[in-house]
Amino acid sequence: MKRILITLITVTSLLQTTALAQTTQPPKVVFIKAGRLIDVRAGRVLENQGILVEGERIKTVGPIATVEKTVPSTAQVIDLLKYTVLPGLADCHTHVLLQGDITAADYDEQLLKESIPYRTIRATVAARTGLMNGFTVMRDLETEGAMYADVDVKTAINRGVIPGPRMFVSTRAFSATGMYPLLGYSWELKMPEGVQIVDGADNIRRAVREQVKYGADWIKFYADRRYYVKDGALHSWVNFTEEEMKAMVDESHRLGRPVAAHAMGWDGIDASLKAGVDSIEHGYGLDEGLMDRMVRQGTYWCPTIYVGAYVAEGRAAAGAPIWLTMRDLEAKAFGIAVRKGVKIAYGTDAGGYAWTENQAKEFSYMVRYGMTPMQAIRSATVAAADLLQRSNDFGSIEVGKFADIVAVSGDPLRDISELERVRFVMKGGEVYRNNK
Ligand SMILES: [Zn+2]
Repeated sequence: MKRILITLITVTSLLQTTALAQTTQPPKVVFIKAGRLIDVRAGRVLENQGILVEGERIKTVGPIATVEKTVPSTAQVIDLLKYTVLPGLADCHTHVLLQGDITAADYDEQLLKESIPYRTIRATVAARTGLMNGFTVMRDLETEGAMYADVDVKTAINRGVIPGPRMFVSTRAFSATGMYPLLGYSWELKMPEGVQIVDGADNIRRAVREQVKYGADWIKFYADRRYYVKDGALHSWVNFTEEEMKAMVDESHRLGRPVAAHAMGWDGIDASLKAGVDSIEHGYGLDEGLMDRMVRQGTYWCPTIYVGAYVAEGRAAAGAPIWLTMRDLEAKAFGIAVRKGVKIAYGTDAGGYAWTENQAKEFSYMVRYGMTPMQAIRSATVAAADLLQRSNDFGSIEVGKFADIVAVSGDPLRDISELERVRFVMKGGEVYRNNK
């Protein structure tokens, strides 16, 4: 008993010392001088702007001459006068626990031959890569068989153990029996699953509660599979009954968790919209009718164009030429969706292709398919923050928001591929990259 008491006292005094250390240390102050600053909310570019950062948030933004007067002498000054400065980018569809799966063999190999600890070590590298690419926010849409390891990656980042973006994680994702890899093995073998397999509305409600219990910020599920083209449109087989999907979305929303649906074909998108999901992932089979419904319901589209283009050739060569058709259908759908005002959030499916490919390549496709460079940047900043329901914290360089700031040397509004060459990355007032 005595020993416990002594331990308690030691722990208490230790806690007090730490608290004291924290209160006596003033927050770090940084003054950034930006030659050009992209005001994503107003859709304009401002010149010679000063950003005063105190601790992890932005205290003041305005013309350098005005802000300079309020800068304390102890402030660290960062000169970005020759650069274009913009808010940290957000990738709303990643898989840090995956290292590319052009073919089924690539995928199966990772689940069969790599342990979850090994995959998690690689995930920490992926998270750092994302941050260095300029992505200060990532919504990671399922671990592909690595259970809740994404929650651990997020915790390690938040505690400062490893560098990485602000993570929004969805843990294991859902599909129904027989509708998600690993498939095609002997029935005598118990194979690992790439998702949490659930059947029946009641089981689904319990499974949603379980994922939320273990740290899911979002719920992700696979709405469809077996894609085919009929009358020029992409169709699919739906994985869940209407009752099951409704149970999943209702239970998630009841627990305050938004829902992302992997929905490629018309049928999967239709079913997901009926169930009331918050974002449609991929959505290659979108037609005008579905787009109008998305506008009415306020549903986001996360198009993941680059991964489709990237895997198309490989998958076609492996015997699935439909991926070439899907790529072309999406190019057409994207332009129409932009004109109709469908809410579009930037998402790349990084991890679906190797992390050595810069996930900022998606920007060039968005512009080629019908967005202005400003619209493309907004999809990865203000729009992404809105999708993630965190507009008060990030998505623009404004007073009170996290100091999540990136810079490039050229003008991304003239050449959007400049965003593939990010030179400076700050997250929460800390500089993680500075290659000026
Ligand atoms: Zn994905």
